[in-house]
Amino acid sequence: MLKLLNPGPVSLTQRVRDSLQKPDLCHREPEFFQMQRRIRQGLINVYDCSQEYSAVLLTGSGTAAVEAMVGSLVAREADPALVVANGVYGERMAAMLKRHGKPHRLVSSGWTEGMDLEGVERAIQSCSCVLAVHHETTTGRLNDLHRLGALCRQANRPLLLDAVSSFGGAEIDFEGWNLLACAATANKCLHGVPGVSFVVARREALQQPGHSPSLYLDLQNYYSLQEQDGSPFTQAVQACYGLDEALAELAESGGWKARCALYAERTRQLEAGLKQRGIVSFLSEGQSCILGSYRLPAGVSYEQLHDRLKAAGFVIYAGQGGFSHEMFRIAVMGDLSSGDLDRLLAAFPAS
Ligand SMILES: *Cc1c(COP(=O)(O)O)cnc(C)c1O
Repeated sequence: MLKLLNPGPVSLTQRVRDSLQKPDLCHREPEFFQMQRRIRQGLINVYDCSQEYSAVLLTGSGTAAVEAMVGSLVAREADPALVVANGVYGERMAAMLKRHGKPHRLVSSGWTEGMDLEGVERAIQSCSCVLAVHHETTTGRLNDLHRLGALCRQANRPLLLDAVSSFGGAEIDFEGWNLLACAATANKCLHGVPGVSFVVARREALQQPGHSPSLYLDLQNYYSLQEQDGSPFTQAVQACYGLDEALAELAESGGWKARCALYAERTRQLEAGLKQRGIVSFLSEGQSCILGSYRLPAGVSYEQLHDRLKAAGFVIYAGQGGFSHEMFRIAVMGDLSSGDLDRLLAAFPAS
């Protein structure tokens, strides 16, 4: 079987794969609601958040969770929302607000740069809330949420975070960052199956009337029904089986800190091996240990590299936009051994 080194879906552990074989289940039966409760509590437990937060489980990919969060928690009749962007995913949140007809301001920087925190400082007082991306998968930059979060706390502005590619694999300081909500998915750092995603948000915001322009992605509706052991629509039951098992596996293997350390170990091995082959990181600083972006070796196109590595059993990922001819990406999430990484490195062209 191919090893997936794209940023989700990830290679499954045997344990999670086996869980998909559980019995057929109706999403309106008590057995489903038991699992739904366990998953929602399991998501809260990943970061030991206070019970002021609750998790809402959605069927859809990570973007569904981000759009549910942005749509339901950002008001139309308010000061503009401040979107901090340095890649595809920040820009996508601004595109959502535009589509929803909600006032917003964009503080953007180049895709290889950090967030423009000075721009945030200048604009934050005139904005109602801040939207940002934790791990910008476009380049693999782990954005400096400690500094952005401090600005949000000082200015008393709620922060809404796209944590799709960091939840379960990097620190998230809910209280410290003044987090109103974060959105994420089952099939990245949590090592579940694609099909379910979620928003962790303050209960007080979930209990108020929301702002969703969408009937399907109305977070407050999901919350009120899920609190009463309900579900507005059909859930991806088998994907829930996978997430349930993946959360148990994460907890048993030491939680997000252990996973973060494991990713760091894999990234060290990968970077050292690539360096020996003359391949260097695309970012000069700020790279996460969840996904790395690397410069394509001289004279080798992405397609050539992709096909060569695929023939050796690995799926890598292209750069987005203008980066597609310069770099490639490798994520180290999912079921991956150090022997796998050795085999991957051996399949690269010699420098
Ligand atoms: C993967 C990802 C998403 C959502 O992608 P889907 O394809 O909808 O799952 C959103 N934001 C970030 C930062 C991501 O890495």
